[in-house]
Amino acid sequence: MLRGELLLDEPLNEYTSWRVGGLADRLYLPADQEDLLSFLRSLPPEESLFWLGLGSNLLVRDGGIRGTVICTKNRLKGMRLIDEERVYIEAGVPCALVARFCAEQSLNGAEFLAGIPGTFGGALAMNAGAFGGETWPLVGKVWTTDRCGTVHERSAAEYQIGYRSVKGVEDEWFLAAELRLVLGDTALSREHIKALLAKRAASQPISQPSCGSVFRNPPGDHAARLIEACGLKGHRIGGACVSEKHANFIVNLGGATALEIETLIHTVRDEVSKQLGVSLEPEVRVVGEPAVQP
Ligand SMILES: Cc1cc2nc3c(=O)[nH]c(=O)nc-3n(C[C@H](O)[C@H](O)[C@H](O)COP(=O)(O)OP(=O)(O)OC[C@H]3O[C@@H](n4cnc5c(N)ncnc54)[C@H](O)[C@@H]3O)c2cc1C
Repeated sequence: MLRGELLLDEPLNEYTSWRVGGLADRLYLPADQEDLLSFLRSLPPEESLFWLGLGSNLLVRDGGIRGTVICTKNRLKGMRLIDEERVYIEAGVPCALVARFCAEQSLNGAEFLAGIPGTFGGALAMNAGAFGGETWPLVGKVWTTDRCGTVHERSAAEYQIGYRSVKGVEDEWFLAAELRLVLGDTALSREHIKALLAKRAASQPISQPSCGSVFRNPPGDHAARLIEACGLKGHRIGGACVSEKHANFIVNLGGATALEIETLIHTVRDEVSKQLGVSLEPEVRVVGEPAVQP
């Protein structure tokens, strides 16, 4: 008997930080890990599946997502100390809570997660990082599920980890991870978190809907510097606008469509390529179907 919530034709703009995106045919909010595994076992093998955390690195197109979306945010939310230097964290826990929990346990090394507005599952999928810290160097092992609801325990060594890139294991999704941290000092961690959040607030448009950095930084340079050098700050298509505060952010000024954001992403990429000969690669993932034209 399933204990989660199955929502039909659910608007995904309410689940993405850009506040855009069409309908999911089906969206499942599992009650917990066991319930999620039972749900996966109940699905027909041909059902298309998409995993969603806090939607903070996703551009969901206006036509939405066919098949089933599994949303882990606030659902897989277990977090506990395993021993003095190891913590167990489920995929739906927000990164900010992970940073705070580790700090309160006097464990150092997870402070950089404080300002990343995604789930820990999303951070594992993206190898999220900030201010010199990255997710995977903290990971000892992970627990994943395949689409049949079979759980796998995997060591970090089974994955090839790069800058915002995690490869090596296909068709499995993260349920939880064991992090290894360094025993330190709670007050120091708290101070570090405070300083990192202040730095972020000073340099990023955090009060406007966005997806953080749209493009990966090319080797030895910053996408924001290149975009600004091309005179693209403030460039606007409908409700989508290159942020005046941080040129690698595209903000939704209100009422933007996913198509407007996607068109602006292409415009920026083409202009940087034309003016500076640098090919920018998106960090955000573009998913779903285009809107059906009337
Ligand atoms: C204001 C702002 C600032 C940001 N700053 C940073 C930053 O400093 N550093 C940084 O790295 N990122 C940053 N981001 C981007 C984003 O927060 C991270 O990429 C984050 O890790 C995404 O997590 P999420 O839960 O929102 O994932 P989602 O956006 O929901 O999903 C992202 C990808 O991960 C997959 N996924 C999600 N959960 C799972 C799972 N359990 N198992 C397998 N795959 C899964 C999804 O299918 C999708 O492909 C920022 C975003 C915003 C809006």
